[in-house]
Amino acid sequence: MSRFWSKTVQELTPYVPGEQPKLSQLIKLNTNESPYGPSPKALAAITAANTDALRLYPDPNSDALKQCIAQVHGLSTPQLFVGNGSDEVLAHAFLGLLKHDDPILFPDITYSFYPVYCQLYDIAFENIPLKEDFSISVADYLKANHGRNGGIIFPNPNAPTGRALPLSGIQALLNGNPNGVVIIDEAYVDYGTESAIALVNQHPNLLVTRTLSKSYALAGLRVGYAVGHPDLIEALERVKNSFNSYPIDKLAMAGAIAAINDQDYLHQISQKVIKTRDQLIQELSQLGFETIPSQANFVFTKHPKHDAASIAAKLREKHIIVRHFKLPRIDQHLRITIGTDEQCGALIQCLKELL
Ligand code: PMP
Repeated sequence: MSRFWSKTVQELTPYVPGEQPKLSQLIKLNTNESPYGPSPKALAAITAANTDALRLYPDPNSDALKQCIAQVHGLSTPQLFVGNGSDEVLAHAFLGLLKHDDPILFPDITYSFYPVYCQLYDIAFENIPLKEDFSISVADYLKANHGRNGGIIFPNPNAPTGRALPLSGIQALLNGNPNGVVIIDEAYVDYGTESAIALVNQHPNLLVTRTLSKSYALAGLRVGYAVGHPDLIEALERVKNSFNSYPIDKLAMAGAIAAINDQDYLHQISQKVIKTRDQLIQELSQLGFETIPSQANFVFTKHPKHDAASIAAKLREKHIIVRHFKLPRIDQHLRITIGTDEQCGALIQCLKELL
């Protein structure tokens, strides 16, 4: 605390990202990164990028990247926004599309950055409790606050639960809430969830956000994007151009374009993660863990007889890091990122010894 801090900063409770320990020889299953490297074509493109051109500012509109994303999804570039990771895209969406008089709605258990943006931008919000099985009830959103909201946002599949809402549920939400923006955060969509991008042409109030940090294995590159009606995209552009007009640097542009053009590689490593996930869920179940059905690159699991925080602490002593949230309703759960088969095998071996 300092007397030089603004009132806004004094009152902030910043987001706390998962730990990035400076230890080698670690099995790091705490921040939902990919255990596989990015597409070799992305690495080659970054290496081959014309570094002499780094003297110059990058293209403020990231046109080449937008064209590449447009092609993959069958969209036009005015339907696209790109930013430094989806966190930045989401930040602009909170300010540009979710700040209204009525409170915005999101689940009580969800991505913990959402309330932080609300605090930063002074946006009122209401948490809608997930059902007992941690699924989302569309009806609860439609009736909340007498049907009045400043917008709705959640990840699909949700984080940290991994549970997905079928596309029919999102369609019902859009039909029932035509006067507010609905933002679907598809950070983990490539691990088995139907994408809501299929609905953007019919619903001018739908914004879908994506990241290259998970399934493309490029968390270090910081690229994310949003898809929606050009009017929604224009709101994001207006915020971006009032904040940082050159968000995507030249190396990130080169890497992102090559990665997105290599859909075969994306598919291949996503399928590997899905296979390992399903195997891990089975093996956890043999040890007595109860795991929520996951459509993500992580599982959310609890053991009826063992305290989650102490399991996490004991795993850490063995150099395996998983994520524990000391929060209501989920303090007995662990979120475990899907690693390679070898890493998940080592985790199971360690749990067998601990329990
Ligand atoms: N949405 C969700 C649900 C996430 O879990 C994350 C990763 N922490 C993000 C968005 C942001 O990812 P990035 O900024 O790396 O694109």
